[in-house]
Amino acid sequence: MALPTLPEGLIRLDNLTVPAHCLDGGVGMVTTSLTIAGGEFADDASDATPVDMRGAMAFPGFIDMHTHLDKGHIWPRRSNPDGSFEGALVAVRGDSTARWSAEDVRARMNFSLKSAYAHGTRAIRTHLDSHAPQDAISWGLFPEVRAEWEGRIDLQAACLVACDYALTDAFQTTADLTAGAGGVLGMVTYPSADLQAQLDAFFVAAEARGLDADFHVDETMDPTVNTLRDIAQTVIDRGFERRVTVGHLCSLSVMDETEALHTLDVVARAGLRVVSLPMCNMYLQDRHAARTPRNRGITLVHEMAARGIPVCFASDNTRDPFYAYGDMDMLEVMREATRIGHLDHSVFDWTRAYLGHPAAACGFEAPSLAPCAPADLVICNARSWTELFARPQSDRIVLRNGRPVDRTLPDYAELDHLMEPS
Ligand SMILES: [Zn+2]
Repeated sequence: MALPTLPEGLIRLDNLTVPAHCLDGGVGMVTTSLTIAGGEFADDASDATPVDMRGAMAFPGFIDMHTHLDKGHIWPRRSNPDGSFEGALVAVRGDSTARWSAEDVRARMNFSLKSAYAHGTRAIRTHLDSHAPQDAISWGLFPEVRAEWEGRIDLQAACLVACDYALTDAFQTTADLTAGAGGVLGMVTYPSADLQAQLDAFFVAAEARGLDADFHVDETMDPTVNTLRDIAQTVIDRGFERRVTVGHLCSLSVMDETEALHTLDVVARAGLRVVSLPMCNMYLQDRHAARTPRNRGITLVHEMAARGIPVCFASDNTRDPFYAYGDMDMLEVMREATRIGHLDHSVFDWTRAYLGHPAAACGFEAPSLAPCAPADLVICNARSWTELFARPQSDRIVLRNGRPVDRTLPDYAELDHLMEPS
């Protein structure tokens, strides 16, 4: 059964299955009618052309709140030698030093944005590797890319530096560049004798510039690593009031259970928002040559949800040494997160993890199917979760402002001229 062709003009989509939280703040999926007039959802009108959608599941435009557009698609010229986290770090460092001109980063960013748009994503936060001199290049370029995509994808960026960088003078320059471009202050935390000083310096820089924060945290299967607790406690101790997002949190999955759950209590008290990146975690974590992985790295999303911590899921890396695959497709993220994290058979409404929670975590416009909201919809040829996740939904319809977008994906050959190995 194919999805119907939608007529132009004033239409009413009957018998659509949508997330209730985007309609009236309810829970789960509900069947409803949506009227579209002048590019917006509207109150029902007697002269609207009705279209029977036969139960098709539909979602507002997705939000992909943790990506690395600057790293994307370098795989053909700089692959990960062994699939490990260390291998990824070394490979990306080599590639960025040698190759990340504004022209190179822009072309690869645009490729990812075209894919995301075609798949139905309307807002993205990307991290930008920001150790000098890359910070000047990428932050110089970012406002131009954001302007070019305005009206199609809302773009945010967060700087990405190692936590020892927070104690350098160069970090102040990075923070200024970030603030100047309306960005988010971000860094990677790992165990260090100076961690508290690094965190304090980081939050001082964020407070001075009025910036939200976004951390890469404990992306390791070492059960002794718990910088998450230090971040949460520092947010409480400082009374930091702006939004704080923490991503990955893989070590929680192998940590002593009592310590892990106590840490989550502190995270809840600190008001942190969590983003889990399960596809990238599956690729990198617990990888050892010739040994089958036992631990899959996904963080404790059910235990977080039980504490009221807003949990989100996102793409993370795309065809780069941190993740060899990926296509900026939030339906893939949804499908994989559900399978990897056992989000099915759960009492929680996980549709919020791709829509309402990431919008609130980043400050993007809240997803809404209510009258006057932009008529942005991803309509799938599926009437239930089992139909939705069984197939890749390559035949989905993506509406933006009430009109179907061209869903043609960019051709990988577009980037061939940038891919000669150095
Ligand atoms: Zn990341």
